[in-house]
Amino acid sequence: MRMAAGLIFASAVSLLATSAAWSQTPPAKGAAPAAAKGAAAPAAQAAPAAAPAPAPAPTQPARAACNNPNALGVGRTVEIDTTGGPGFGFEHFKDLDFLRDKEVVLTFDDGPWPGNTPSVLKTLAEECTTGIFFPIGKHATYYPEILKQVYAAGHTIGSHTWSHAALVNKKLSEQQRKDEIELGFSAVKWALAGQSPAPFFRFPALQHPPEMVTYLGTRNIAIFSCDLDSFDFKASKPQTVIDTVMRKVDKLGKGIILMHDFQKHTAEALPELLKKLKAGGYKVVAMRAKSPVQTVPQYDEDLLKQAKLPTVSSRPVSSVVQTISE
Ligand SMILES: [Zn+2]
Repeated sequence: MRMAAGLIFASAVSLLATSAAWSQTPPAKGAAPAAAKGAAAPAAQAAPAAAPAPAPAPTQPARAACNNPNALGVGRTVEIDTTGGPGFGFEHFKDLDFLRDKEVVLTFDDGPWPGNTPSVLKTLAEECTTGIFFPIGKHATYYPEILKQVYAAGHTIGSHTWSHAALVNKKLSEQQRKDEIELGFSAVKWALAGQSPAPFFRFPALQHPPEMVTYLGTRNIAIFSCDLDSFDFKASKPQTVIDTVMRKVDKLGKGIILMHDFQKHTAEALPELLKKLKAGGYKVVAMRAKSPVQTVPQYDEDLLKQAKLPTVSSRPVSSVVQTISE
């Protein structure tokens, strides 16, 4: 979304109340039992049995088979080598003109969010099609189960910073800008129970500070601007979203479309919009990353530390508060 003020984050603490959500641990950590590390450990524990080999990272599920003969579907799938941080979307990056005439890429920012994101997923499933999701890190920590649904449905997931901070803001230090980027990816990885997302990044408000564009290049993370903005966050009704996208795509003939699964009007507009794209002869292109993002371990740990803070009490409300008279 372009107006950061429109995002009202609930306090982290209040949203971290469900300890079960925070108990998930990335699967690759095979720490030895504490007793085996201590010098005073009993002999019987000094040589623990060999740890089982770590399970291979499960691959993302494929999209479900399509049962709708009239669905929009997926025209083709492209794999992106993100080495050096290529930029996509003609609003800012004009080097990589890979879409053919009548091809579109659907992109959804600012989720995951209750109601709207599941609605978008339902529509994409009905139309047997797909998109790229750019979640906000904080939102991913609020609603990891919704982001897991996005992943399980076979869609591509990137990142959109930790807190949707405008990275062109001069008040932010270079380190703070990097923190926004890195913690965002670590948060998405945490929400996906240790599955790394694609190295696909979108700057909040499509504002691209040059030094961060360079930084993403060194991190081999692709940058996504767009070819056409739905301006769905400004729309007063779903029909406006449909009309704006169709007018712009018909003019350009193709493009990466920027929308928000965070927005109710977008979720409501999507069924009709996808039907109109199909009727207009458009085909959806799925974009996959050749390799997942390599998160920075320090940020993964920082995220876990933040996550653990509110877990002092993990008891459900019903076991803490009981009505004894009314
Ligand atoms: Zn946004």
